[in-house]
Amino acid sequence: MATDYDEVRSDVKETQDRSLEALQSANAPDARSVVNELDEADAFDEGLTPGGEIVSEELIVQVIPQAADEFTCYSCFLVRHRSQLARESNGHSYCIECEG
Ligand SMILES: [Zn+2]
Repeated sequence: MATDYDEVRSDVKETQDRSLEALQSANAPDARSVVNELDEADAFDEGLTPGGEIVSEELIVQVIPQAADEFTCYSCFLVRHRSQLARESNGHSYCIECEG
């Protein structure tokens, strides 16, 4: 019967809505940390050489050609012009975009 079928489907949908709500409220931080872990895993993959060796971020930064009037932001790792330097701390430079 069509009516019974609809009732079953609405029950299923309600259950899905409830679990989605639980996911979005109580488990939201967990879901976010999972996403962060995935991002880090991606970054790891990009740091792998064809030989399978892991290239450290520091090594990648040093390879970037850098002019005398430029610096590499320690937060976003982009090469910036000196005019965009917002802060220097412990020998590390930070650009105005990262410092807000
Ligand atoms: Zn930056």
